[in-house]
Amino acid sequence: MKEALGILSRFYGYRSFRPGQLEVIEAVTSGRDAVVLLPTGGGKSLCFQIPALLAEHGTAIVISPLIALMQDQTRALVANGIPAAAVHSNQDEDYNRRVMEAAFQGRIKLLYTSPERILQNLDYWARLDISLVAVDEAHCISQWGHDFRPEYSELHRVKEALPNVPVIALTATADRLTRDDIVSRLGLRDPFCLLGSFDRPNISLAAYSNPGKRERMKVIAGLVRKYPQDSGIVYCLSRDGAEKTNATLLSMGIRSVCYHAGMSADERERSLRAFLDGTAQAVCATVAFGMGIDKSNIRWVVHNNMPGTVESYYQEIGRAGRDGLPAEAILFYSYADVIMLRKFASESGRVAVNLEKLARMQAFAEARVCRRRILLSYFSEERATDCGNCDNCLNPPSRFDGTVLAQKAVSAVMRTGGTAIGVFTLICILRGVRNSDVARNGYDKIRTFAVGNDLRHEEWADYISQMIQLGVFEIAYDDSNHLRTTPYGMRVLRGIERLTLSTYVPPQYTTEKKPKGRPVTEVPKDPVKLLVSHLKTVRTEVAREVRMAPYLIFSDATLLDMAVRRPADISEFLQVHGVGEKKALRYGPRFISAIREFEQKNH
Ligand code: ADP
Ligand code: ZN
Repeated sequence: MKEALGILSRFYGYRSFRPGQLEVIEAVTSGRDAVVLLPTGGGKSLCFQIPALLAEHGTAIVISPLIALMQDQTRALVANGIPAAAVHSNQDEDYNRRVMEAAFQGRIKLLYTSPERILQNLDYWARLDISLVAVDEAHCISQWGHDFRPEYSELHRVKEALPNVPVIALTATADRLTRDDIVSRLGLRDPFCLLGSFDRPNISLAAYSNPGKRERMKVIAGLVRKYPQDSGIVYCLSRDGAEKTNATLLSMGIRSVCYHAGMSADERERSLRAFLDGTAQAVCATVAFGMGIDKSNIRWVVHNNMPGTVESYYQEIGRAGRDGLPAEAILFYSYADVIMLRKFASESGRVAVNLEKLARMQAFAEARVCRRRILLSYFSEERATDCGNCDNCLNPPSRFDGTVLAQKAVSAVMRTGGTAIGVFTLICILRGVRNSDVARNGYDKIRTFAVGNDLRHEEWADYISQMIQLGVFEIAYDDSNHLRTTPYGMRVLRGIERLTLSTYVPPQYTTEKKPKGRPVTEVPKDPVKLLVSHLKTVRTEVAREVRMAPYLIFSDATLLDMAVRRPADISEFLQVHGVGEKKALRYGPRFISAIREFEQKNH
């Protein structure tokens, strides 16, 4: 225990373990297998890195599905003064051979590689002095998981070849089937199991139904302005959507890049680098982007379209706020998304399951109660209290009698012939907007034309989506997705039933104004924030000089603690959260003098 704490503070600069970490470390160190289920950012890596460092001799083998992941982790370890390396196909074989030699000489504590490589030559690898085997992203072994990889399914051979070496499997996948599958497929024996809470309380949650394009862009610009020196991800459903969103953000003066599978490997690499080194404030991406990205200071994730399942949503927002500082997840969803996703789901292999998962996701998006409670209950975690950090907790919807609004809407639908229009046209009719559809079909002649021109488009969009949720209309997926009035809707129209709606709440950021043409930035006034901002600039300079991503130098959480403590010498610098010995010596002088200068200038 004491030794483990010593390593934690010396190499990582942390003072205490998170719940569960030490138990896993003890289990693995005593030779037992282990399974670690923690959310993204939960601190899984330390669970095998510290046992690797505690072992008096031998090398820990870490099996990882992605080269980018191996590179990222080994760089971070080496930066902390830990002898780590990787062998993979992105390096020339000569280099790989030298790494293996070093491992055979016992000079490497953590050795990363792919499942293919170790399985191809298992006898050779088994001759190494191996302290433990870690299987990262272990859900890849399960067909139930969302990211099955055939090369993972043979990994039980590793346990068979090394029966006395502890194997530790790690994943952020929460669901039960996958969990049990991992244990049996890897051939683990009576493993110690750490199942952490999947709650990520630092990520605030919000969703907006049917926002217009302008509204969406304002929300994104608002986030960029709030976190000018950090970055975020805008997830889009299609490549085209990613391209267009990127173009719009660029035109607004936001440093944005694009990332999707339709780009060349070169272009993608460039985008990824701009994102990692902090040059880009936003990346507009399809879901191809993200797995294995370890960047700890992603401050926000926006879903420009609704994901098809709660699992993907959770995985994607989980990339934000890995350092534990506040982060934001914002979901935009529209009926167009639902229609598209229904199409995907009904063309997929498992229609019923996928439609059910989509329905759960939609229910989450449309919810007017604490969103975190819904999420956690989805992952079978109980929570009896509201979270206080989601839109529904922060702005509990106020309610009003919406019967008259519903009557106007139903009446408009009925007068157009019952089932011939979609949500957009309905809003145009209600607001008296003569677009081409309205003009062509003579909808401007009907009696309900413009009866709702006292409400803005977004307001109507929100109220109509509530009417759909509450069963006034249904969407005729079998008939060009037109609106269909339900029997309940007819009773509301006749005044037999009444309807309660939640008052529309505009998105948070839409009222702020941005000076035209200039880059989107904001100068903080709080002295600590000012210093953090200064330290970030220093970090960027240092990162450029040593050619490393800024978050690998120090995390945002570290800079924040540094700004609060304002260390004046190396021993004070070592007290800062996340500063180990190696980094203190390497970067301490530079940051200490930056702090001193800042203090003199700002007194
Ligand atoms: P995961 O692999 O579970 O997604 P990581 O292992 O990358 O998460 O950890 C996420 C972040 O939390 C990292 O920046 C890591 O250094 C930090 N961290 C992990 N354990 C601790 C701890 N005991 N104290 C402080 N920070 C920690
Ligand atoms: Zn809540």
